[in-house]
Amino acid sequence: MERRRLRIAVHKFASCDGCQLAFLNAGETLLALAEAHDFVHFPELGPVDPEAEADVAFVEGSVCTEEERERIQAIRARSAYLVTLGACATAGGLQALRNLADGEAWLRDIYPRREHLDALATATPVAEHVHVDLALWGCPVDGGQVLDVLAQLALGLRPAPGADKLCLECKRAGHPCTLVTRGRPCLGPVTRGGCGALCPRHGRDCYGCFGPAEHPNTDALGMRFEGLGLIDAAIARRFLFINSAAPEFRRAGLYWRGEAP
Ligand code: SF4
Ligand code: SF4
Repeated sequence: MERRRLRIAVHKFASCDGCQLAFLNAGETLLALAEAHDFVHFPELGPVDPEAEADVAFVEGSVCTEEERERIQAIRARSAYLVTLGACATAGGLQALRNLADGEAWLRDIYPRREHLDALATATPVAEHVHVDLALWGCPVDGGQVLDVLAQLALGLRPAPGADKLCLECKRAGHPCTLVTRGRPCLGPVTRGGCGALCPRHGRDCYGCFGPAEHPNTDALGMRFEGLGLIDAAIARRFLFINSAAPEFRRAGLYWRGEAP
């Protein structure tokens, strides 16, 4: 198969830069990529040209300001293939928690001059504004998964990361189950794999940063958490965290908040 030389852009919206750093931390493979392709815009790496046309545009962060709402349209128009990079871009991220409250009231209470802020009332995933060709989850993303996607695009293939449940990765790696052996409220049974079961590997329960797996049985898992002794509000917080704008987690979280959608 012939490998194409791609023009790659990495754009930042409302986010912490962690997904860009996970991309950079892919190390030597990234250096090889930089020789095989052209990074036309990637401020964390060096090149800065936000107006550049791209074959592949990665977008980190959610849309939180009027400027971002306009900029994402322009990026989409000059990008052949658009990938959301991580939880903020794919499902709103932590900043989308304000969508569950009165975001406007928070802005007015915290800042003395609300009118000086270019802040929308909600923080929204990129897909609510433009067509997204591929969504990559995680807070942050897995650098290896990003590089796999690029390698497949360079070969003209259509990347399709799996949506199997994290428990499968965890079991394959032989990690003791934090839910069964420690009674921890692990979200692995409803979360998609891709991180290599990073948290259970270190004895921690998963908090769902890779977003909902396909066909997640959030009802059964919520009841299991109740059986572990979690109160309703604590169960709701498990679902309404990093990916609170993902419909499956949002529906489950609102149910445990007593706001059945
Ligand atoms: S620790 Fe979590 S991810 Fe691993 S098997 Fe148990 S429930 Fe699944
Ligand atoms: S185990 Fe869960 S919370 Fe931890 S990195 Fe993986 S998906 Fe994210």
